[in-house]
Amino acid sequence: MTRKINFGAGPAKIPESVMEKAASEFMLFGNTGVSILEMSHRSADFTAIIEETKALLRELMQIPDNFEVLFMHGGGTGQFAASSADYLVTGSWSDKAFKEAQKYLDARRVFPQVKPITTVPPVDKWERNPDAAYLYYCANETIHGIEFFDAPETLPGVPLVADISSTFLSRPFDFTNHGVVLGGTQKNLGAAGLTVAIVRKDLIGHEMTITPSVLSYKISHDNNSVYNTPSVYSIYITNLVLKWIKEKGGAAKLWEINTQKANQIYEIIDGSNDFYHCPIDKKHRSLMNLPFRIGGPNGDEALEKEFLAEATANGMIGLKGHRSVGGIRASLYNAITIEETAELAKLMTEFQQARQK
Ligand code: PMP
Repeated sequence: MTRKINFGAGPAKIPESVMEKAASEFMLFGNTGVSILEMSHRSADFTAIIEETKALLRELMQIPDNFEVLFMHGGGTGQFAASSADYLVTGSWSDKAFKEAQKYLDARRVFPQVKPITTVPPVDKWERNPDAAYLYYCANETIHGIEFFDAPETLPGVPLVADISSTFLSRPFDFTNHGVVLGGTQKNLGAAGLTVAIVRKDLIGHEMTITPSVLSYKISHDNNSVYNTPSVYSIYITNLVLKWIKEKGGAAKLWEINTQKANQIYEIIDGSNDFYHCPIDKKHRSLMNLPFRIGGPNGDEALEKEFLAEATANGMIGLKGHRSVGGIRASLYNAITIEETAELAKLMTEFQQARQK
């Protein structure tokens, strides 16, 4: 059995060299005599891994000194700072965050819900609350394929909270105006189970009194991310992925490669006379998750099924669109190579030719 090309949205492809390294030291980590999986999360050896992983993230993401890096559990949705917040809902994930926030605080939509969502409404149509504790946005909607390439405009004194689960280190990230930048690691940074929260120092310690301890930035910070047992193996895998990213040339280089990869596919879509159709506004088209329909704007489900079957027959998996939007979705995270993307491009070209003879 050979490895398939995995275009899945997450958990997603991890670089081969990272998995080979992890496999080689699975039973015996360094000269500890045990596996990473068997080691105390408070041991000196594991503390060194935490410290190194944080330092690598700081270096590669150019995290400003006034931010802390925390390794946490369970996503960011339970962590709220105050009584009112604004939400830019641009797809399923920001919608989920908004609905979760409503349980705890006065969360408001900045613009009304539109369906289907294909762009971000212009800022003059936004209704922002100057007293909001933060303005939340999802840097890249993994299901809808809508990406913010520039951070949204926020009102003075209202920090941005960004969910970067599907864009971690896929391109440089500007921390200006941000208060919290968070995401899971299972797409661009390794394995599932680890949540990274990058929090401006002055915001730590202002959480609601009902905040569970495992979701408290203050408790996490005061305990160097080991208040309770963290996802030790995921931290280790992220450590290896960060070293791989560094070797590749960092976020700027990955951005260049990711742009080339996405362009290969978008060019085919745009040159297909609507055989392939991507509904997303060009200035917000995601570099990481490319959703499209086959057989016209509404998609032809039979044709899409045939396409997925041909992809599988050619060793490509994970291309089925999310059930809420249908169609096809190609996820081109950092670990996917230009050559692997070219295989998908080739399949798309040949599939159209064969169906339109
Ligand atoms: N935000 C985004 C942008 C996502 O893509 C996902 C998962 N696909 C989540 C949040 C939720 O992540 P988790 O399943 O780790 O809670």
